[in-house]
Amino acid sequence: MARDLLGVVGWPVGHSRSPAMQNAALAQLGLDWLYVPVPVPPDLFDGTVPALGAAGFRGVNVTVPHKLAAHDVADSLSPAAAAIGAANTLIFGDGIEGDNTDAGGLLDALEEPVGGRTALVLGAGGAARAAVWALLDEGAEVLVWNRTGERAEELATDLGARAVAKPVPAEVVVNCTVVGLGGGGVEDLGLADVDPGAVVVDMVYGDEPTPVEGWAVAGGARFVNGLEVLVRQGARSLARWTGCEPPVDVMRAAAARA
Ligand code: NAP
Repeated sequence: MARDLLGVVGWPVGHSRSPAMQNAALAQLGLDWLYVPVPVPPDLFDGTVPALGAAGFRGVNVTVPHKLAAHDVADSLSPAAAAIGAANTLIFGDGIEGDNTDAGGLLDALEEPVGGRTALVLGAGGAARAAVWALLDEGAEVLVWNRTGERAEELATDLGARAVAKPVPAEVVVNCTVVGLGGGGVEDLGLADVDPGAVVVDMVYGDEPTPVEGWAVAGGARFVNGLEVLVRQGARSLARWTGCEPPVDVMRAAAARA
């Protein structure tokens, strides 16, 4: 019998750490499943992805640039995917279910309650949308700043947060911009003169510490790496597909090595 398949659909997708992370988890769970990269260009998404279930896939993660298309292709949506308007996880069964584990993954990575606290989200793209929804859903008061202010206004209005014209101190700060991914610094985020608060998450990660990490640590904040968010969203996706308790430590070690 053919092996059960899982995968990550993206374009490009060769750089993804998810195959190493998820295959380590499947091995640890004793499941003879395989998680593979599935490169799909945007114009082929709608024709390809609905056929993956019949091709042996139990589910897939979906990454850039397909998260909106994944939301649209799903027959049913989790509350998170419906509210965020994007899906990073598809589950193939009788139909296609779309979920968004980026939201819960951020909350898991934070490892402390955010209800009743102020949170500042930097950015207004897909990652910011998931972060704002997750933080609001947990009862935080959420402020949104973005380089292009109108996009922050739009996101905030849409989800029920408040846009700010410049970054202001908050107890929780989440960088959802691309700053630090191959360039830029905290001055691009207007953070140089802002106190980092209690805990700072940078969705950006790499081999070197990011500028936001430097700012957070220098200001005495607890820092959460974007790799931890990747691990926690992957753990939630794995739980959805397999029904098993995800081996988070094994996933974290494999993602760090990949
Ligand atoms: P996106 O939709 O392309 O949004 C990019 C954001 O970055 C926008 O808000 C944009 O602002 C801002 N930006 C770009 N260049 C900037 C600059 N020089 N100065 C200030 N702001 C700038 O991207 P995304 O999908 O939301 O992803 C954002 C980041 O999160 C990426 O680095 C991605 O790799 C990371 N991410 C990590 C995880 C994880 O699991 N760790 C998951 C998802 C995403 P404008 O609107 O003004 O252009």
